[in-house]
Amino acid sequence: MRDVIGQRRLLETLGERALRGDVAHAYGLSGPRSIGKRTVAVRLAQTLNCATEPAVPGGCGRCRSCQLIERGAHPDVLVVSRIEPKRDISIEQVRAMQADLSLRPLEGRWRVASVDDAADLGEHAEVALLKTLEEPPRHAMLLLLTPSPERLLHTVRSRIQALPFRLVPTAEIAAALAKRFGKGAEKHAAAGAGRPGLAITLASEETARSERKALENELFKLMESGLTDRFAWAADLADDPDTRRRMLEIERRMVEWSELLRDAALVSQQVTDRAMRPERAEDVRRIAGAVGSRELVDTASLTVRLARDVTEWSANARALLELFALKLPYYAAAGEVAGRSRHRAAVL
Ligand SMILES: [Zn+2]
Repeated sequence: MRDVIGQRRLLETLGERALRGDVAHAYGLSGPRSIGKRTVAVRLAQTLNCATEPAVPGGCGRCRSCQLIERGAHPDVLVVSRIEPKRDISIEQVRAMQADLSLRPLEGRWRVASVDDAADLGEHAEVALLKTLEEPPRHAMLLLLTPSPERLLHTVRSRIQALPFRLVPTAEIAAALAKRFGKGAEKHAAAGAGRPGLAITLASEETARSERKALENELFKLMESGLTDRFAWAADLADDPDTRRRMLEIERRMVEWSELLRDAALVSQQVTDRAMRPERAEDVRRIAGAVGSRELVDTASLTVRLARDVTEWSANARALLELFALKLPYYAAAGEVAGRSRHRAAVL
């Protein structure tokens, strides 16, 4: 499919079938963030509505229809997502989408709606969705995108055709980066850890690279700090009066750090071929050597939980960050072993 990195086996048949209009009315696109679900949703809509003959899988990318879809401005193609970060996708949003899908296409041949992220559907909204899944309009296609399909109702999951996305081999990402950004961009392929979207961001945005590195270093520094510094860090982060920014800042840290801590937990269990941060392998190895495996696993799952529930505990941000500061294992860079045992005594 045009300009999609990876998922070749999954998309080969799907692309050909979409060309003939021989498609299911609902698909569930699942897989980690930045793996290409949104791109594929756009390409499917383009394949179904491209005006160029003979049509190709993914659409031509140049006709008016393809360009409008690419820009999110095609009248027959819509995306439903959270309006505010705190709120679920509402039943009103789903009903508006259903009303839209039931109409004949205005410009193209198909109406296509993507729900992104489908796990953000409120309970009533998700139940309401069943109506479309049971009696889909002839010219309509519904795409449910989510990294966590297990959070969808069983009744919803059983009515959609699953398209599970797989991590993309680094060599394939490297080749695509070189083609898009020129030689030299390949070196960012590994940091994507199988997720082309992340590799593209890292290859094309210097700020994304430096922010990522700064956050990684912040974790390492925090792990080397004693309690006083850790609590000062928690207070700093929690005292931002802009609640939305505070929430995003905390969430970013927990998401980024869960990957590093997960890597360290895996290395401590002798699993070394599945790193999400291969470029920090050396730091990760040092941490795994100094901290117990159990502690790493616990902290990694704590960060995942905190990232997931950040909106719910926003009011208690300080208390929860302090809890995190207490639970985060202490790791002394070489030559500070004495400091480590002192800190341990203080915590216990
Ligand atoms: Zn086209």
